[in-house]
Amino acid sequence: MAEVQGSKKKKKKSSKRTRKEHRYTGEQTYASKVAVGVGMLGAALLGAGVYERWIFEQPKSFAVYLVALGAFALVGAVAFGDLGTLPVRVGDLGIAIERGNELERIGWCDLKRVYAEKGKLFLEGKESTSAINIAAQPKAVARILAEGTRRIPEAMDVKRAAIEGLPTPRDDDGEVLTVDAPQVAGRTCAASGKTVAFERDARLCPQCGEVYLKDRVPKKCLTCAADLGERALEA
Ligand SMILES: [Zn+2]
Repeated sequence: MAEVQGSKKKKKKSSKRTRKEHRYTGEQTYASKVAVGVGMLGAALLGAGVYERWIFEQPKSFAVYLVALGAFALVGAVAFGDLGTLPVRVGDLGIAIERGNELERIGWCDLKRVYAEKGKLFLEGKESTSAINIAAQPKAVARILAEGTRRIPEAMDVKRAAIEGLPTPRDDDGEVLTVDAPQVAGRTCAASGKTVAFERDARLCPQCGEVYLKDRVPKKCLTCAADLGERALEA
């Protein structure tokens, strides 16, 4: 919670504003229990396979498959269970997945495509793709879909059937945090392609977080098409 800060900064006429995000811890769900079960089953199969193949006096050929299946289930369950329990943050700065002390953050403007597949919500960015287990993070996923549809409609590619039964996001969902402005120095101005050297030269789209040099702010955001101009925020 290093980036949580006193929200009551003195109000200037500036176009800064309070940035918020909702933090959701992973829920102990049927899915994560299944993951544990599958993991245990995998371990058992692995053990049985090893026993049949290498310890039992007359090795059976199917034992190799038991080992493979067991290992596969075990690895799958570990990955699946892990993803399901990581806390997720959703808000003005985009989406962040907490991996231990690291925040893996992706801004709305950096999302190329958001889609659901096999029980996970995939966040495809310019450089990498992350996935969130829908069953373990129903509220976070619901908020991502709601905010994403409002902020970056073009990137949203989620079929209704994949997300049935999700809760309706509420203002007091999860743990509401006040967060600092995102790191903008070093980012590229979306209009000019120039690197933003200093924070004070940057302006941000309030809807998707896209970064512009202050002299190059377009009338409409080039990423999400929101009206920009005077509405652009200081970092
Ligand atoms: Zn924008």
